[in-house]
Amino acid sequence: MILDMIWGGKMWTRMDSAEVNQALIYFCDLLDIDPESIDIIPLSHRDQCGGYASIDDDGIVLIKIKKTLGRKWFIRFLAHELIHAKQYLDGRLRYDAYIDLFIFDDKIIDCEYGDEPYEIEAYSVEPILTAAYFDRFE
Ligand SMILES: [Zn+2]
Repeated sequence: MILDMIWGGKMWTRMDSAEVNQALIYFCDLLDIDPESIDIIPLSHRDQCGGYASIDDDGIVLIKIKKTLGRKWFIRFLAHELIHAKQYLDGRLRYDAYIDLFIFDDKIIDCEYGDEPYEIEAYSVEPILTAAYFDRFE
């Protein structure tokens, strides 16, 4: 993790870096994943998407989150992307460059955004994680 370096550069415009760290640790604990396998970097406010997750060849999940999100949305997006991180790290989700499609639970996924099973799972678990976080940390 090179978070300190990134956060030390004031890349987040609205989030306190200590809370980003706290949320990362908390969600990783709930999801039973190693925070050391996650890198988080800010995404331009101009990006049309609020967050992305991808995995590299070394098994490190790169999470990009829009840097201008307020606290509630940031925490929610982080929870969402960490659910994808778990799907990657558990080997359930992967991108197949040859067919330019994702594979989830050994099935080729070729449908509209929102109908993908990994998104349905992320959207169904995300509110549970987010509610638990705000219960715990207000
Ligand atoms: Zn998603």
